[in-house]
Amino acid sequence: MRAGGNDPIREAARLLADRRNAVALTGAGISVESGIPSFRGAQGMWAKYDPTEYATLHAFMQSPRKVWEMLSEMVSVCGGAAPNPAHKGLAALEEMGIVRAVITQNVDGLHQAGGSRRVIEYHGNMEELICVYCWKRYPTRERWTPGSVPLCDCGEILKPNVVLFGEPIPWLAQEQAEEEARTCGVLVVIGTSAQVSPACDIPRVAKEAGAVVVEINPEPTSLTASVTDVHVTGGASEVLDRLAKLIRKTGSGPLEY
Ligand SMILES: [Zn+2]
Repeated sequence: MRAGGNDPIREAARLLADRRNAVALTGAGISVESGIPSFRGAQGMWAKYDPTEYATLHAFMQSPRKVWEMLSEMVSVCGGAAPNPAHKGLAALEEMGIVRAVITQNVDGLHQAGGSRRVIEYHGNMEELICVYCWKRYPTRERWTPGSVPLCDCGEILKPNVVLFGEPIPWLAQEQAEEEARTCGVLVVIGTSAQVSPACDIPRVAKEAGAVVVEINPEPTSLTASVTDVHVTGGASEVLDRLAKLIRKTGSGPLEY
């Protein structure tokens, strides 16, 4: 596992180039440089909006207009954001036949905007609204304008098609994510400590099925000492941009050290 030397990014590049068949698991850390605030932490959404009041299905059903104060901010921020070099680097790795799927906990749609084709959205996305009464769906841009509370044709208030606390993960996304984890050769964890269930199971499932786990995070996480094989310390943009360039430079042949 240490044959690539002591430079973790080169070791990660070698593993990806040799094994291919990689799957990425991404979280808020990959979108921070696109201006999307994370949920946790001092600057996070939950410091401003108490999640028990603003982010549960129960809260939405009880007071949808109040919850839309927070949702409006999320729709605005996501709508104005552009993919950063991390999203583009992952898309480049998919183009090279190295990454075969991205499992994301983000709802911002930036992987698709960055060029990734196979994206499994664990927590839904902000680009679609759904009526929790009649299940009709609408593109967000067709029904929502800043400051408005979008309504369904049936008269009820629409909810973004994201997973609020108290809602299950979409079953298809969960099935697909588990299948990807069980069958990948390398799992690359990016910008997440994967603490939230059930996303936290993905690295363990991959590892137990024989995958190598590469982690790209600025700080060690609970994964680092338990399942991670190679920890590349750094921001997602810087590391993925460099990884894509390192691998492209050497094609599918052996990396030079
Ligand atoms: Zn409806």
